[in-house]
Amino acid sequence: MTEPARALHHVRETIAHAAKIAQRDPAQIELVAISKTHPSEAIAPLIAAGQRVFGENRVQEAQAKWPALLDAHEGLSLHLVGSLQSNKAEDAAMLFDCIHSLDRPSLVAALARAFDKTGRQVPCFVQVDIGEEEQKGGCPIAEVPALLAEARSAEIPVLGLMCVPPHGVEPAPYFALLAKIAADNGLTKLSMGMSGDYETAIMLGATHVRVGSALFGARE
Ligand SMILES: *Cc1c(COP(=O)(O)O)cnc(C)c1O
Repeated sequence: MTEPARALHHVRETIAHAAKIAQRDPAQIELVAISKTHPSEAIAPLIAAGQRVFGENRVQEAQAKWPALLDAHEGLSLHLVGSLQSNKAEDAAMLFDCIHSLDRPSLVAALARAFDKTGRQVPCFVQVDIGEEEQKGGCPIAEVPALLAEARSAEIPVLGLMCVPPHGVEPAPYFALLAKIAADNGLTKLSMGMSGDYETAIMLGATHVRVGSALFGARE
């Protein structure tokens, strides 16, 4: 096995192990390989090893890297996991198959217009500011029901909730809280867990784990 293939195998094994302990079906857990900052030459070996779902955090970087990769390979899906400016909504709608960062009413409106114009209905996660950290982005917890209602009336397909817990503290309580807010709002999908904590996230119900450095190595 090549190094990327070995890393992918290890992450998949870890997901399967965590799913087993949690008595969950590993097939219900989507591994989103976060390729931000890494060039196409680092991504291609993971595609060759069988990975199909990737994520980027910046629209412009994704526009530079992904059209060629998407042309060259069948069946890939590309997710946006970083904050989205309203003036990039149309670009995002054209390129991405899933958006994990719907976090405010103005973006609901921009995406609704972009979906109308492009004819694409991109499934979204509502990002929740689970640690109530000003700088981090995400919808305040108290405003989640209202944002979901706005998304629903704008006919934006919302799959579930996403979060990035505060750095450097035990993430489990935040994952559990996100799961509770999702259940309270009748949502079944949870985008949570990164390289350092995806096993914990799976124990607490993650359906989408966003793993970067465990697959690609450390970023600069
Ligand atoms: C970078 C990033 C990840 C992946 O982080 P790693 O720690 O490298 O696994 C996941 N989610 C978001 C939103 C990110 O920006």
